[in-house]
Amino acid sequence: MIHDKILTNVGYRSGRAKQILVTGGAGFLGSHLCERLVNAGHEVLCVDNFYTGSKRNLTALLDSSRFELIRHDITFPLYLEVDEIYNLACPASPIHYQYDPVQTTKTSVHGSINMLGLAKRLKARILLASTSEVYGDPEVHPQPETYWGRVNPIGPRACYDEGKRCAETLFFDYRRQHNLSIKVARIFNTYGPRMLPNDGRVVSNFIVQALTNEPITIYGDGSQTRSFCFVDDLISGLVRLMETPDSLTGPVNLGNPAELEILELAQLIIDMIGSKSVIDFKPLPTDDPKQRQPDIAKAKEELDWAPSVSLHDGLTKTIAYFENLLMADELV
Ligand code: NAD
Ligand code: UDP
Ligand code: UDP
Repeated sequence: MIHDKILTNVGYRSGRAKQILVTGGAGFLGSHLCERLVNAGHEVLCVDNFYTGSKRNLTALLDSSRFELIRHDITFPLYLEVDEIYNLACPASPIHYQYDPVQTTKTSVHGSINMLGLAKRLKARILLASTSEVYGDPEVHPQPETYWGRVNPIGPRACYDEGKRCAETLFFDYRRQHNLSIKVARIFNTYGPRMLPNDGRVVSNFIVQALTNEPITIYGDGSQTRSFCFVDDLISGLVRLMETPDSLTGPVNLGNPAELEILELAQLIIDMIGSKSVIDFKPLPTDDPKQRQPDIAKAKEELDWAPSVSLHDGLTKTIAYFENLLMADELV
């Protein structure tokens, strides 16, 4: 065991196979990350409490000898041996993170403390999946990493936004206090296969509604903007960030700067599917940000990373995924 560990550490330093922990690995982004890391030859330990994730997302990996799945809630301590930690555990869609807001904050805060404690004991590098939500409803556009944000600390989105802001604080304090090797990624809206059909996020909602010819629900007048990144591009950015030298901590924005209005997104999806859906305007949720677009100059410079998948190509793959679910009668 100790011998294995020494070998793994040697591998880590020389850029060979590593033992990598992915928390939230059964979720949308986590499952794609696990797949990418296993395919690159690493041993992956996936930890998840299946709050929004599922074993089904990991079907392709369950038989791999380099993959292990552990059911565990990261708000409780976790003792195991790894070289690197990607901390992704946390529900990301407003419906799910607002369903049990106290647990959402606990996952970001207690969960990060536990994963940072684990990283400290192991002297392992640790990455946080933070979010553009730390910018709140921004007055600066596009948002650079230097912008401190405008978050309502007592609104319904605060459990997620403030939870992630506190997680970032913890990461930087463990860096300052314990000299930990940390990486903080601020992820902007990402979409792709394995989003949950019922999680309320805009891309999955619109595609499912368009495929079933149900009305497309636009919150507000649809003039609010978002910038959508395809999952494969995002995963490349996360892996690149993890591989940078210790001196590069982030935070780094990862997202696609191609910005569009939500109404335009609805029209594009209706046209691509050839759907008969009509538009149904609904009230805008509280604290819904009016615009969001990443400034990715830092990611370009420090990671030599930029997204390469166009919205049209990414949506084509995502629509195909949901069409398959529909055919298998699994669109719930
Ligand atoms: P997701 O809900 O699909 O995945 C989250 C995973 O974490 C799920 O598998 C869930 O079961 C697990 N989880 C939740 N609480 C846990 C806990 N206490 N212990 C163990 N596991 C737990 O969401 P996602 O879209 O894959 O997001 C992954 C990460 O990326 C999140 O941290 C999210 O905040 C961040 N992020 C995502 C986006 C996006 O657009 N998808 C944008 C910004 C940030
Ligand atoms: N922790 C963990 N796994 C470990 C080491 C620590 O889950 O391998 C948890 C532990 O429960 C602790 C937290 O991480 O509450 C923070 O650990 P740290 O060493 O930073 O602080 P302390 O133990 O002094 O509270
Ligand atoms: N939205 C919408 N209809 C939907 C779901 C979402 O108009 O069926 C809007 C939502 O109000 C927001 C944008 O689409 O302005 C993105 O919502 P999502 O929940 O996907 O992400 P976030 O608000 O966290 O960026």
